[in-house]
Amino acid sequence: MTSVRLFFLALLALGLLPMTSPVAAQNERAPVYWDVHAPDRPTPPVVNPGPAPSAPAPVPEDAVVLFDGTDLSAWEHPDGSPAGWSVQDGAMVVEPGAGSIQTKEDFGSVQLHVEWAAPAEVEGDGQNRGNSGVFLMGAYEVQVLDSYQNETYADGQAAAIYGQYPPLVNATRPPGEWQTYDIIFHRPHFGADGSLVKPARMTVYHNGVLVHDHTTLTGPTAHQDRPPYEAHARALPLRLQDHGAPVRFRNIWLRRLD
Ligand code: MG
Repeated sequence: MTSVRLFFLALLALGLLPMTSPVAAQNERAPVYWDVHAPDRPTPPVVNPGPAPSAPAPVPEDAVVLFDGTDLSAWEHPDGSPAGWSVQDGAMVVEPGAGSIQTKEDFGSVQLHVEWAAPAEVEGDGQNRGNSGVFLMGAYEVQVLDSYQNETYADGQAAAIYGQYPPLVNATRPPGEWQTYDIIFHRPHFGADGSLVKPARMTVYHNGVLVHDHTTLTGPTAHQDRPPYEAHARALPLRLQDHGAPVRFRNIWLRRLD
């Protein structure tokens, strides 16, 4: 051990240096420096992820398949009524106005694979262009948006942890092309008294490009708000958002990590 290191250890022992908590260290990209949806927050650099795959990605044998291109049997409207989206050409398509859909089954920590495509015909701009969302546990959104040459606030573009963290880079493909999200989600843990023991964390790849590296969430995602954590069940449905755009989804599967 070097004498410099010993010196700092001695200072630490004397309480002369602040201890850095693991949570603070995880929050190095903490949005505390930026208001929710801050218009002056820098947008990440654009990275071309390469051409879209010609076919859906392979499915691991231990995956729970939530959509294989045929039907919506794994899904329902959040009120328990049938899912109102359509199935066309092996994809399920948001039926604007039909409401969001969620899985009938509940999940906690997962490895999730989702493929999506924004409408090929560009309509609207900003948040009104190909908006949908992948909500882990129905509460923690990875934004789906046509962010190909489409400006919006940084924490609301494609692959943002909505309202909290922009992606590290913008790896969005042109509208109409298939894109992938691979998400490793660790659910939050709560104590018996409802207090937060461990925050939720996400690692996300957009089209194979790392966009969140074990990022600690500040709480549930929300529009123009950063609400605190509220204790919830260990497993909850996965939700896909109806935000008024006919976004397509295919090849949705996950692996349980709990
Ligand atoms: Mg959304």
